[in-house]
Amino acid sequence: MNNRTVRRSVLISGGSIAGLTLAYWLRRYDFDVTVVERAPTPRPGGQAVDLRGVAKEVAERMGIMPEIDRARVHENGLAYVDKTGAWSARMPAELFDGEGAVAGIEILRGDLTEILYAAAQSGVEYIFDDTITGMREVSDGVVVSFRHRASRVFDVVVGADGLHSTVRKLAFGPEADFVHHLGAYMAYFTVPVDGLGLTDWFQLHNAPGGKLVAVRPEGPSTAKAMFGFKATDLVYDRHDVEGQKRILAETFAEMGWLAPRLLAGMEHAPDFFFDTISQTRMDDWSRGRIVLVGDAGYCGSPLSGNGTAMAMVGAYVLAGELARSRGDHHAAFTGYQQQLRPYVTECQKLPPGGVNGFLPSSRAAIRMRNLSVRMFTSTPLRGLMAKSMQKADSIVLTDYTVFEPARQPAASNIPPTSS
Ligand SMILES: Cc1cc2nc3c(=O)[nH]c(=O)nc-3n(C[C@H](O)[C@H](O)[C@H](O)COP(=O)(O)OP(=O)(O)OC[C@H]3O[C@@H](n4cnc5c(N)ncnc54)[C@H](O)[C@@H]3O)c2cc1C
Repeated sequence: MNNRTVRRSVLISGGSIAGLTLAYWLRRYDFDVTVVERAPTPRPGGQAVDLRGVAKEVAERMGIMPEIDRARVHENGLAYVDKTGAWSARMPAELFDGEGAVAGIEILRGDLTEILYAAAQSGVEYIFDDTITGMREVSDGVVVSFRHRASRVFDVVVGADGLHSTVRKLAFGPEADFVHHLGAYMAYFTVPVDGLGLTDWFQLHNAPGGKLVAVRPEGPSTAKAMFGFKATDLVYDRHDVEGQKRILAETFAEMGWLAPRLLAGMEHAPDFFFDTISQTRMDDWSRGRIVLVGDAGYCGSPLSGNGTAMAMVGAYVLAGELARSRGDHHAAFTGYQQQLRPYVTECQKLPPGGVNGFLPSSRAAIRMRNLSVRMFTSTPLRGLMAKSMQKADSIVLTDYTVFEPARQPAASNIPPTSS
């Protein structure tokens, strides 16, 4: 056996939740791993994201739960407030044993990224500030060209580069064929906490017109702001942050509650993030030696939640199947898709009311939403709501530890490739 059949090289485009989790697991199975990330460092920022069900199991298997526990956000739950800040409806975190709208483990996306980056250091080559510009599949690999460096050949290329994936565009076709806009936009950023008078609740305020302003405390000096609004086809430059801030300031100019203070804080936010609320829907996540993981292949949108979970679980399964297939990328991608598809289908289901439930358009619709939250969190109906939230457990993780080099079993003990 020559060296090339033993150590296979994988290029991962995107160093966020999916890309870093994948890099960690591929190294554990002794692959040569390179991550190319467009940003100069792993990107900070984002709101609290959930870690529940099988995603927590992936984190446990990675041995990063102590770090996650230290970084987790302690929140009492989620409260809908009116323009004076008075509560209209609320969902305490403990109500669904940590599997409700506010999960038992909530961690800031930026903190989770840092933890994953620290875990995926040993033996991983990182290329920051660069992007893939072209890919050409040849008989034994993919020739990849980069914007700022010479071309290289990899056995497999993985697109973990999010909703607007370059890998998907290059290998599968235009974004419009796969990304479905749900009719709304979201922005997240960090603001100083001074004068906001926050409690340990994630507070959300809806206003007519399908507008939402929300804020959650982050620590003694900062808070995380979130804005959402309905709009169909805004024309804006995805790389022009100042232009996106102007859109937000204009859209929320008349909004009450804490909106003016949060918008004032936005001007100096170090981590402003703005995007559509969209889902990626694809029949196949691979083409030849190229495969997608996380939002690039199956973004669920903030409405369905579980984006972090799908990214981590997808990365775990993809790495495991690549290890199991011992060089047969076709078998690996088939196994990956077969195992993950039912889980992704479940996770991508939108909550009742879809975007209208999240961003109700009229005062009457806001009142109805608050009423339904009060009803569904009451004792008799709580079970129904809990059931609708348990999608994160609709997969059983395969144990791939036999494929870790130190634990190589005798050939006859190797589980078959089909799942
Ligand atoms: C800054 C930021 C803030 C976010 N905040 C929230 C939030 O508050 N709540 C929420 O629910 N979700 C948020 N998300 C999305 C969330 O991280 C994902 O839905 C989920 O975790 C799946 O992760 P992912 O790794 O598949 O995609 P993402 O987290 O979107 O990561 C994609 C990565 O690929 C990189 N990238 C993109 N294009 C290229 C390219 N051409 N070449 C190389 N690298 C590229 C990006 O810089 C990014 O690091 C945020 C994403 C980002 C990037």
